[in-house]
Amino acid sequence: MFRIPSCGDEIEVRKLKVKEQSLLVDRKRQRDGSALNEVLQSCILTPGYDVKELLVGDRLALLIHLRAVTYGSEFVFRVTCDCGESFMWKEDLSALPVKYLDPPLPYGEDRIIERVLPSLGKKIKVRLLKGKDEPRMRAIRNNENSLSGLLRLITVEVEGEKVLSAKWFDDLDADDMDYIIGEWRASDCGVDTTVQVECPACGRTQEMELPIGDPAFFMPKASKKSFLQAV
Ligand SMILES: [Zn+2]
Repeated sequence: MFRIPSCGDEIEVRKLKVKEQSLLVDRKRQRDGSALNEVLQSCILTPGYDVKELLVGDRLALLIHLRAVTYGSEFVFRVTCDCGESFMWKEDLSALPVKYLDPPLPYGEDRIIERVLPSLGKKIKVRLLKGKDEPRMRAIRNNENSLSGLLRLITVEVEGEKVLSAKWFDDLDADDMDYIIGEWRASDCGVDTTVQVECPACGRTQEMELPIGDPAFFMPKASKKSFLQAV
């Protein structure tokens, strides 16, 4: 059973199959995002849940859950410290904190967050992103102007005005953008993938994002074998 962080619904899921694991490590299919949709959808056994309607935070939580039910919750990955030391670090995926939306967001609905931009003094409405927004999110990530692009994507309206140009967002005061992106992030749900890692050589602690893109995430044993690295 998996509890969806946005709506709190419990759904039945199954382990990953070999064909899904192959999809997840296929770089081309990863890049266009089709692999993730296909894998998540095939592993949900409870009918009526479209992964494109799940929030981005739900999807990451589900992906981590599927990894844990398939291979166990222990994730070992390599970390390199500023001191030059390279070491293996172990995280327990089941112990990562999960944030649920409060109040829960019924499946299929949108969550709108309304705030007043501190400098501009205008009311802004932004929304939490769903799986179906991921193609546009990817396009924005590949663009230099990523934060204003992201803000444009999540903005529903500003003081009743719905269509705002890229220029409008570029001309916004930087503190307004920082404020609303911060509020938007704080309103989202899902797994907190920030981990604290301590270097065994120098004792320094660094904060890092869990390396979900690491081959060991979906092939914890096989990825160590050289024949796979050669392909
Ligand atoms: Zn170190």
